[in-house]
Amino acid sequence: MATNKSKKVNFTEFLKNVFFPKFCFGCGRVGTYLCPECTSKLQIIDRDICAICEKASYFGLTHNNCKKRYSIDGLKSFFVYEGLAKKIITKIKYQLVSESIDDLVATINIESFKKITDFCNLFPGVILIPVPLHEKRKAMRGFNQSEYIFSIIAQKLGIEIKNNLVMRTKHTDPQAHMKSPRARMENVKGAFEISENVKDRSFIICDDVWTTGSTIKEITLLLKQNGAKKVCALTIARVYV
Ligand SMILES: [Zn+2]
Ligand SMILES: [Zn+2]
Repeated sequence: MATNKSKKVNFTEFLKNVFFPKFCFGCGRVGTYLCPECTSKLQIIDRDICAICEKASYFGLTHNNCKKRYSIDGLKSFFVYEGLAKKIITKIKYQLVSESIDDLVATINIESFKKITDFCNLFPGVILIPVPLHEKRKAMRGFNQSEYIFSIIAQKLGIEIKNNLVMRTKHTDPQAHMKSPRARMENVKGAFEISENVKDRSFIICDDVWTTGSTIKEITLLLKQNGAKKVCALTIARVYV
């Protein structure tokens, strides 16, 4: 029976490859969304920074003298946001190829996961929160890429994830259209609401890219104003500074 089943699966795979062939996002080679050669070109972040001053910081924790009452407590990212990583993330954002996300997560090595696990362990009972899309945008795209990516990562880390704890109630223009960090900040101001009590709980807000961090900082402010204990960020990629 098992043999028959695997034969059937292989045949389905075969048909899929014939009608929906995979092409490497990096070099266009057929057969995979990320070929081993391109995977080896993805730059892993080797230097953590403080989310406020963007200077080097141990473990990505916010410097004590950079902290204010409602500041973010830390930031971790997997890859440098340029070249191939940028290309992959842009593709994933606008076309759901769930297998391509699986392939991307598969490129994250064990050491990177170990670092993230150690980071999460600093905040007992921490819950992952993917940055929400407004319902309108979600309906337009058909999915929220951060929810999808981080549901796989949460499973790997063994950490709880909640998609609806933070909701985007204001329909805003895409952050990429904003010219300055100030405009990005203004654009997301008051754009979110929470759906449950967050007092004394800790959270890690997850997104695909950290650019200026304005969206994540706005959610941090909301959570902390409502009594959250610690709030950090985890992103797939970060602009390298
Ligand atoms: Zn390739
Ligand atoms: Zn700092």
